[in-house]
Parts: sequence; structure tokens; C-alpha cells
Amino acid sequence: MSSVFKPSITDNLIAILTRIDAARKDAVAPAPETHLIAVSKTHPAEAIRSVLQAGHRLFGESKVQEAQAKWPALKAEFPDVELHMVGHLQSNKVREAVAIFDAIHSLDRIKLAHALKAECERSGKNPLLFIQVNIGEEPQKSGVAPKDTLAFVAEVRALGLNLQGLMCVPPAEASPAPYFGLLNTLAAEAALPLLSMGMSDDFDSAIRFGATHLRIGTAIFGERDYSKPDVN
Ligand SMILES: *Cc1c(COP(=O)(O)O)cnc(C)c1O
Repeated sequence: MSSVFKPSITDNLIAILTRIDAARKDAVAPAPETHLIAVSKTHPAEAIRSVLQAGHRLFGESKVQEAQAKWPALKAEFPDVELHMVGHLQSNKVREAVAIFDAIHSLDRIKLAHALKAECERSGKNPLLFIQVNIGEEPQKSGVAPKDTLAFVAEVRALGLNLQGLMCVPPAEASPAPYFGLLNTLAAEAALPLLSMGMSDDFDSAIRFGATHLRIGTAIFGERDYSKPDVN
């Protein structure tokens, strides 16, 4: 009975949805809709199933192989699931990614855009795309530099891909607000309607800057166990 005193994943989900509503009400200019992507990377199917049984349908994973291992069975049980790729995508994984994901948040180089274009033509699929912006210009992070974003948007648009938004992960040690503000400005300049920003520790701020897609893992599923060899 020790679990009685531990909030369940479902309790966490309800608490987060309540906080999202409250932050939207407080915000001066929230997005028309703010979607919660439950980022389930490293977490097992049973944990995911409890979130599905609570009625949630939008999930994120950061690795193609992990998604392939967990999601075909869950999608068979819950066919209206929407699955978003939030992690780095290698060009040689594009076919598998387009097969399993409805959206990709990590388009960050023209080579990947061309690979996506070829796969969309081959498969007839057309995933929703976000360009990842390296908003804090950190050398260890993926993403297009802020100053190169508008030119990259134009290149991707010229390919006819389903580009709708920008995505960022702000620097860990800084206040995220200026970075969310900058991503909002870049998206407005590029006339892109979607903004993927805000994680477990900073989503209230992201909502104030117009986030349309929050990517929240830990606050729903708990801490990730990176000691397991086959998960990220
Ligand atoms: C893991 C991950 C998240 C979720 O982060 P939490 O801090 O656990 O909410 C969001 N975005 C990306 C790109 C991630 O890799």
C-alpha cells in the first residue's frame, strides 16, 4: 500500500493539465490552443498506457528505435494516438521516422529536409514539421542559429514540406523567458503558426510567450532512469 502516498502518473497528468489551464488564463497573449505532448522516452509501455487510459492521446519520443519498440502495440490499442519525434533525427532514420511519427520537431539541416522530401514523395505521408532553433547558440546543441532561421525556413518551404513551426530548448542555467520571446519573434517573422517550447521546469513561461506545443516528460512520468542501457 506504499503507493497510496505517491502521486500516480494520472494524478501528475491532471495536475499538469490544470496548471496549463491556469497559466493560459493568466497569460496576456496565449496561443489559441496549447497542446500537451507527454514525452514518454525511457518510460515503459505500462506507464504510457495509464496516460492513454486517462484519455490523453498526444505523446513524444526522442529515438526512432525506442518508438518502434514501444508504439506499434500501443497504437493498435489506441488508434487515435498522435506521436511526435522530439529528439535529434539522423538522415538514415528518416524512412522509419516518417512511418511511425505524425510530427517531427527537430528539422535542423538542409540534408535532413531533402531526405524528408524524398521520403514524403515515396510514402505519400506528410508529417507536420518544426525547425529546431539553437536559441541560446550553444555549441553542444543541435539547431539552426537564430540569425539563419528565416533563410532556412525559406529553403524548407521551397521544398513543399509541411513546415508549420519552430522548436527550441533554452540554455539550462538561464531564465528561459528571453529565449521563448526570441522564438516567438522568429516564428512571427517567418509567418509560422506553431511554437514547440516549454518543458517540465519552464512550461508556464512558455505559455506566456505563446507556446502551442509543450513537451513535458518528467513532471508526468517521473525521473528518467538513464542507467538502463537501451534507452536515452
Ligand atoms: C526529454 C525532452 C523533453 C521533456 O523534458 P522534461 O524535462 O522531462 O519535461 C522535452 N523536449 C525534448 C527535446 C526532450 O528531449
